[in-house]
Amino acid sequence: AKRTGKGRYEVFRPEMQEAFEKTVNLATDLRLALERDEFVVYYQPICTLADGAPVGLEALVRWQHPARGMVAPMEFIPTAEETELIVPIGHRVLREACRSTAAWNRRRALAGLPELTVHVNLSTRQLRGDTPQMVAEVLGETGLAPSSLVLEITESHQAFDLAQVCDQLQCLKGLGVGLAIDDFGTGYSSLLALREFPIDTIKIDKAFVDNLDGCSDRSDLTRAIVQLGRTVRRDVVAEGVESESQRQALLDCGCRLGQGYLFAKPLDHAAATALVLPAPAQ
Ligand code: C2E
Ligand code: CA
Ligand code: CA
Repeated sequence: AKRTGKGRYEVFRPEMQEAFEKTVNLATDLRLALERDEFVVYYQPICTLADGAPVGLEALVRWQHPARGMVAPMEFIPTAEETELIVPIGHRVLREACRSTAAWNRRRALAGLPELTVHVNLSTRQLRGDTPQMVAEVLGETGLAPSSLVLEITESHQAFDLAQVCDQLQCLKGLGVGLAIDDFGTGYSSLLALREFPIDTIKIDKAFVDNLDGCSDRSDLTRAIVQLGRTVRRDVVAEGVESESQRQALLDCGCRLGQGYLFAKPLDHAAATALVLPAPAQ
């Protein structure tokens, strides 16, 4: 038994040993996966709710495991954050997402289509001293316009320093990139983040989109969040839009943009290319 202070004892149970070993093994596997370049980026369109036209894409990492197949981020991002492996993984994702989007935007310009923005997830754990410089380098290297990149800030599972995060976000803003708050409404600090951080976009969590077609109390709350976003002049994107009735309810709430299975699931690079560069009509 281990003493935890205040006279309480915490028993070191076999499950804890197991959990610890699992984390260590996963960390080893993640290091190998980086060496073997097993992380791939999927893209989910962000669309205008009115007509479903894509205005941007969210980059979502996957781990293409040789034995386990495609591994979802929820299974490895928490450990990646704990071990700081999220920093090199995040770098790969950002580079890949910026490179793809720069190429798509060049071809879209030739076809007379508007530029797309690419949204890349950044947990507060990733906001370290050299992050703004890393982002600037990736933009330079890939040729993506800074205004075409939006960084989605998610609250890390780990504690973070508000002043340091603020500082980092100001530097990033200085590069000309957009900033979004992810999962808005779920973290206890959503409103604080909106007040303290130089945010352009609010992403309303799926929880506020589910049940939109249900009882009116809940849709009132969603409407209030959309209105809050409009009052403080932020773009508002609804996440996890799955049904036509949700799309309609969001439009009725004054929400303009959405993302979800109704429009498309996250797509691999080839499928995303087909979506953003539609073949000319025969
Ligand atoms: P998120 O940023 O909130 O991303 C949206 C998640 O919702 C994605 O899950 C997406 O596949 C899923 N989703 C989208 N539309 C719908 C819908 O209509 N219905 C339902 N049920 N789900 C929908 P995914 O790809 O499994 O990613 C999970 C989380 O992992 C992300 O949540 C994000 O927090 C994190 N993540 C993904 N890629 C990265 C990354 O490159 N870096 C970091 N730091 N985190 C990442
Ligand atoms: Ca996100
Ligand atoms: Ca989200």
